[in-house]
Amino acid sequence: MTKSDVLSKQDCLEAISTLGVVGFLEKYRAELIQELKSVKQKLVWIHGAGCSGCTMSFLNCDHELLGTILRNECIIYHKTLLEQSGFFLGGIPVRVPEINIEYYLKDIEKTGGYVLVVEGALVEGPDNSGKYCLIGGETVKERIVKAANKAKVIMTLGTCASCGGIPGDRRSENVVRDFPGLIFRGVADRTIILNEHGITKPVVDLPGCPPKPEQILAMLALLLLDKLQFPEDSNMLDKYLRFKMIKGG
Ligand code: SF4
Repeated sequence: MTKSDVLSKQDCLEAISTLGVVGFLEKYRAELIQELKSVKQKLVWIHGAGCSGCTMSFLNCDHELLGTILRNECIIYHKTLLEQSGFFLGGIPVRVPEINIEYYLKDIEKTGGYVLVVEGALVEGPDNSGKYCLIGGETVKERIVKAANKAKVIMTLGTCASCGGIPGDRRSENVVRDFPGLIFRGVADRTIILNEHGITKPVVDLPGCPPKPEQILAMLALLLLDKLQFPEDSNMLDKYLRFKMIKGG
């Protein structure tokens, strides 16, 4: 493959299946950087209940690839990575979180079509109100469901987002009920929680606490660069919605 060639979906899948994610990222590093420099697809990253360790893991990935994603402003919303995921007034960032969260994210949602990464469990407690976790006067549950409704594809990142993880551990039935994953409620209930909220957008799950940096980067690159598309590639997901070639861990 010459430098001018576009990195094909087949190239990516073959490399991942034969070399693993680390080998894939090494082999096609230059091509991935090239494509990520001009990719128009945007990424919205929302946190539920978690420790942000998945974000920390992502930050440990290949810094040139990470830098390309950040410099190209692929990530348009991430409350900790982007110090100001919001508005500027007269060139000065508006430092009122409520304004940024309430209005900026609503603005993004109007356009839709982004890759949505959800890190952390969905907060449904107490009594299904979601009020254990409020941002800018709105429950995180509402925030995630609204953002998910307008996404092109949703990636649940980490075990918390997948099945509740540490916030939704099995200390009691209440805890499991109050902090489900977006996909599963605890390890026993295989309900797709997002479906309960009327979300029918495709979901790819990358569990792990946290998933490895290379797994996160490779998965995001495939989604951002449209190397994985849905519903066409649904057969590449297993019954737990994990991409069979990158199952996390
Ligand atoms: S999956 Fe693990 S690392 Fe990621 S947010 Fe949850 S507890 Fe933290």
